[in-house]
Amino acid sequence: MKLCPSCRTALKIGKSYTRVEGDQSSETPTRVYLCQELYCRNPACPQAKGGQAVETVEHRVV
Ligand SMILES: [Zn+2]
Repeated sequence: MKLCPSCRTALKIGKSYTRVEGDQSSETPTRVYLCQELYCRNPACPQAKGGQAVETVEHRVV
C-alpha cells in the first residue's frame, strides 16, 4: 500500500480505468494498462483538498 507523501496515511484507490497504447498503427504492439488513481483518506491533509489524485499508478495488463 502506498502512503501519502504529505501525511503518511495509506492512500485509497479512487477511479480506475484502462489506457491503451499503440493501437493506432499495426506496426506498433498494442499495450493495455490498468491505471488507478490514489487519493489521500485524511481530510486534514492538503493533498486531499480539491479532490485531486495524489498519485496515479499503472499496471501493464497486456
Ligand atoms: Zn495525505
